[in-house]
Parts: sequence; C-alpha cells; structure tokens
Amino acid sequence: MGEKPEYLIKKGIRLDGRTIEQVRPMKIVAGFLEKADGSCYIECGKTKVVVGVHGPREVHPKHQENAEKAIVRCTYDMASFSVDGERKRPGQDRRAIEISKVSSDALEAAIMVERFPKTAIDIFMEVIQADASTRVTALTAASVALADAGIPMKDLVSACSFGKLYGADGEEVIAVDMDKPEDNFGWADCAVAYMPNFDKFTLMQMDGNLTVSEMRSGLEMARKACKEIYEMQKAALKRRFEQ
Ligand code: ADP
Repeated sequence: MGEKPEYLIKKGIRLDGRTIEQVRPMKIVAGFLEKADGSCYIECGKTKVVVGVHGPREVHPKHQENAEKAIVRCTYDMASFSVDGERKRPGQDRRAIEISKVSSDALEAAIMVERFPKTAIDIFMEVIQADASTRVTALTAASVALADAGIPMKDLVSACSFGKLYGADGEEVIAVDMDKPEDNFGWADCAVAYMPNFDKFTLMQMDGNLTVSEMRSGLEMARKACKEIYEMQKAALKRRFEQ
C-alpha cells in the first residue's frame, strides 16, 4: 500500500500537481478491438481499461431472457498483472461481481433496452492497469464501446470519482478523480456515473464518511468533471466515425 504521505494536498495542489477540480490526463480510443461489436480503450492517468461489447444477441442461458427488454450484463475483471506488487488472483472476486452488477444498472439506465426484447447486451470490462477509480473509468469506456457498437442510447454515461483529502495545514478538501495514494489514504471516496443531457446520476457508491455539504460539493464537482469527460467521449466517437 506504500507509506502514508504527510499530506495529500498543500495550498490547493495535490501530490501529482493537480488542482481539486482536475481529472488525470485521459485518452479514449473508440473501436480499439476488431472482434467485438463495439469497443473502447481508455487511460485515466495510470489506470488503463479495455472494454468489448457484444450484442444485442441471443440470450444464454435462456431463462435470463426478458420479453420486454434487452438484458444488460457487465463483466468487470482485473488482470493479474494490473496491480502493484504481488499479482492479483486471477478471476472475478466478490468486489468484481459487485462492480459488474452496479455497472450493468448504471449503463442500462442509458440504453434503449425496450427496443431489443429477448436479447442480451454483454459488456466486458478488463482492467489492465489499476491506479484507482477503475470502475468509473471502465464505465466511461463502456458507454463509448456501446455507442461504437451502434446500440441506441438516450445519452452517454460519463463517470468519475471524488473524495476527501487531508491537507498540509490540517484542512479536509474535496477533490475529483482519486488516484491510488488518494484512494488508499484519503478519508472518503465516492464513484458516480452521470448522464449529462438528463442531469441524472445512474451510480453513486461511497466508501468512508462525508457530511451532507461535502457530498453536495463533491457531486457538483463530479458533475462538472463528467461534462468534461463527456466531451472527450464524443470526440473519441467522432474520430472513430470519421475514419
Ligand atoms: P476503484 O478501482 O473503482 O476505485 P476500489 O476503491 O475497490 O475500486 O479499488 C481501488 C484500487 O485498489 C483499485 O483501482 C486498485 O488499484 C486497487 N485494488 C483493488 N483490488 C485489488 C486487488 N485485488 N489487488 C491489488 N490491488 C487492488
């Protein structure tokens, strides 16, 4: 986990040089894979994720089929080589199963599932390098991959994290996009997914404690960051379809 730093923020500047409102440098490539119906590669700082989408396609096992709508199934996983130190045990653990479930719900909110009854939309999220905020980075990529697959959506889903950092002068500060030291040592962190055109959150998960006013300011900052991410998602799709 590394040494606990003396502070995570000093005079408004974080350990990696960012301000409280800044997300890490982001790179988004739509249509990264050839074999999937839709795909995306994303980097958010040192966090790197690949997403492949298949569908709408026949549902197996059949009993999962829904006569009214498509079912959305996310599978989140972290590669053994994605983390520091000892390798992560291969395969999905309880955390990955939980992230898969909440991601399916966060994305289903944006997909026009009623247009494709009795089908499945499968979304595979592979974290190849983890430096915190992997679930939100994966969600941002997944919605680009869904658009790349041509699946009709009401909106893109843009996602980011925010958290509470301790400062050099004893202050507690809310900031967006937690990196690994901030996630490890910060007082709290929260993952949100957001549909910018509906001003609607489709995921909110918190670890730690925040006051109501800290939560409010965190959500406001996350909303702003998601709108910036949304512009980067659109630009990635534009580059893809101009090719
Ligand atoms: P998120 O990645 O969405 O922030 P968590 O808060 O659960 O989700 O995890 C924070 C970070 O902890 C991950 O991004 C990753 O860097 C690290 N991590 C999570 N699970 C493992 C694991 N099994 N082994 C090593 N590091 C892990």
